[in-house]
Order: sequence, then structure tokens, then C-alpha cells
Amino acid sequence: MKQDKRLKAQKNSSQVTQELLVYLDGTFVPKSEAKISVFDHGLLYGDGVFEGIRSYDGLIFRLSEHLIRLQESAHTLMLKLPLDFKALTAAIIETLKRNHLRDSYIRIVVTRGVGDLGLDPGLCKKPTIFIITDEIVLYPDSFYQSGMEIVTVPTVRNLTEAVNPALKSLNYLNNILAKIEAKNANVKEALMLNHQGYVAECTGDNIFMVKSGILLTPPAYLGALRGITRQAIMDLALKNDIPFQERVLTRHDLFNADEVFLTGTAAEVVPVVKIDGRVIGDGMPAKLTRKLMSAFKDLTKRDGVRYSI
Ligand code: PMP
Repeated sequence: MKQDKRLKAQKNSSQVTQELLVYLDGTFVPKSEAKISVFDHGLLYGDGVFEGIRSYDGLIFRLSEHLIRLQESAHTLMLKLPLDFKALTAAIIETLKRNHLRDSYIRIVVTRGVGDLGLDPGLCKKPTIFIITDEIVLYPDSFYQSGMEIVTVPTVRNLTEAVNPALKSLNYLNNILAKIEAKNANVKEALMLNHQGYVAECTGDNIFMVKSGILLTPPAYLGALRGITRQAIMDLALKNDIPFQERVLTRHDLFNADEVFLTGTAAEVVPVVKIDGRVIGDGMPAKLTRKLMSAFKDLTKRDGVRYSI
């Protein structure tokens, strides 16, 4: 009813825009009213999991891969997803429809739910789930055209044996500390090393390099999320006969790479042309990076779940 009024208002005046609707525990609520309890363990302890997904022109990119990763993160936390994949898909599509979004960033969050104080997950009887769909803000265009600069930060990537970076949990403080250090250095993304000094990943992106025509990325066990975009790039390498290896990498390897790029749901594929002051290759996005950027764009037009608004 409220929404109808908003839509009518929108039609009557181009000045009035409809407030974003958020899926929250089975209902759709306007952004300003989408609130959860201060007793939610997602907030109190970071006890929960999430996914960031994209839709491109009415196609949700690699949705099942994202849902599987959500399910696996939840399984490790012994957190039962409140919806099965079919119901989750329906809820995501309905949220997109209600917000009239064909191109969107989709955030699914499942927390342990509301419970008394105390770490014990058993204090929470029911998980909280919400889905935010919104327009996406990418890095500036100039990064895609001319490449971006990153720096290595002192904050070491979480130990696989502690909070495994493969787990997409609500504990992102490791990444946030690194992000703060990147911001202090006036760059938008940070290179994170693991406790042995090997390249792990960035705060919200995976990292790739090219050397003598071979595409390389660190194995996830060194401290990286198994990115869906990372996997898409690996699939494209295979399909396009680009030699590819997962390899243990150091900063020295990156400094002397011919090409470096980052991958992520929000960033897509973004070239890196400077790391810790060292110019990469000839300082411009190079051939293989450009080829993969364009192949990835093409993939987003056909690989996913279609919906109409
Ligand atoms: N690493 C981290 C730490 C991330 O949070 C993300 C997602 N933003 C990625 C890598 C990229 O993963 P994906 O391609 O699945 O978005």
C-alpha cells in the first residue's frame, strides 16, 4: 500500500524517488525502517555469514556458486540457513523486483539471531536473514582505463587455522584494519600478506599476476577467499588456452610481474599498475588483463539466473 503510494508519487514527480525496500525475515521494509535488535549476535559478536552478488541487466551472476559459498560458510559456523536455495533465490528476485533493479549489488546476510548476552550460539533460537539490493558503486573509471595503485599493509591476513579467510563471515575486522592502512596511504585497496609473508589477497578482492604469458594467483589456502570472480577468471583462462597456475607468490614476484589485476564481485576485473611505489610492467593495463576484462564482461551477459522486473 505504502509502496503503491510511493510509486504513484514517483510517477507524478520525477523529484520523488521510491525508498529502497529491504527483505528482512520474510517481509519487505523500507530502508529507514530496516532494523535489527541490539541483541542480535551478528552485531554483538560478528556471528554470521554473508554474500555479495551482482546482477547485470536482469541476470544474477553465478548465483548458485554464491549460494553454495554462503551455505558452506554457514555449515562451518554450524548455522542453519533459514531458507533453502529455492526460497533464497525467490527472495532475492522478489527484492530486486520490488526495487526495480536490473543492475544491482545484492547483499545477503544471515546472522545467528537474537539471544541473551554470551558467546554461546545456543542462546539464539532463530537466525536473522536480510537481503539488501542496491545500485553498485564501482571504482572510478580511471582505474579500469589506466590502472590503480595499491600498497602492502602491515596487518597480516587472518590465519587459516584461526578465522579462515575462506569463510565469508561477519568478522571483517582483519580486512577493515588493512583498509584503514590503505586509506592512510591514500590508496583504495591494500595488498595483504599471510603470516609467512606470502601474498594472500586484498581487503575485498583476489589478486592475479601475469609473467611471461602465464597467469598466476596464490592458492586459497595461503589465506584468501575463494572468490567467485577469481573462479570465473580461472574458467576463462582454461577456455581461452591461457596457461594458468596457482602458485605461492611474494611481493618480489608481484613487483616484477608483467601485469597485475584484482578480481571481485564489486570491482570485477581491475588492473593494478603500481605496488608499493614499484611500477608494474610498463605502467599501463596490458594485453592479457584487457582480454580478461572484456571476456569477463561478456560472461556477465550470459552466466547466471535470469529474472524480469
Ligand atoms: N577477498 C575478499 C576478502 C572478499 O571480501 C571478496 C569479496 N568482496 C573477494 C576476495 C572477491 O570475491 P568474489 O569474487 O566472490 O566477490
